[in-house]
Amino acid sequence: MARQSERTCIGCRVPRPKDAVVRVAAAAGRVVLDYREKLPGRGAYLCPEQGCIRKAFARDALSKAMRMKVQAPDEREFITFLADAIRQKIRSLLTMAAKAGKLAAGYSAVKDSFEKGRVEGVLYAVDLSDGTREKIVDAARGVSPPEAKLFTRSEMGAMIGRELVGVVAFEDRGLSDAVFREAKRLKNLIKQDE
Ligand SMILES: [Zn+2]
Repeated sequence: MARQSERTCIGCRVPRPKDAVVRVAAAAGRVVLDYREKLPGRGAYLCPEQGCIRKAFARDALSKAMRMKVQAPDEREFITFLADAIRQKIRSLLTMAAKAGKLAAGYSAVKDSFEKGRVEGVLYAVDLSDGTREKIVDAARGVSPPEAKLFTRSEMGAMIGRELVGVVAFEDRGLSDAVFREAKRLKNLIKQDE
């Protein structure tokens, strides 16, 4: 396997694989999140973790990395933006899976998908009705793909053009892996907040 190119986080100064860090870019003297890595101009990289963000913003590592005087964003605001960008990415992966016919949505469809051995990962809604997860785990008969609790039933429904959806299962390994990479990133980012 080819070694992934690395980028040094300007907070902890440790080189990381490119997909483990997030890009920020300088625009008109300000620093903005460039989660999709589409913005032109000078950029720098950060681990998506509060400790690294705090260090980078506090000691003006941004100006040094960008080789120009820039103003660090507000730390709280930046973390909120970053969390939103991660949620948005998960949303688009979910929509993509639905369009590709690789998403089982709703209790019966997910149960059926488990029975057919197709489930690669499960997302439960935060407001899932009591006992639903237990029934699905029962149907899975010992198979335990990665799972996370994100979004409300109405948010998940909106992503795939339905009303309330309490659970979805990904039937594609690549898409599921991408979703759980983002979900883990979100969890790491938010957990230090509590
Ligand atoms: Zn770091």
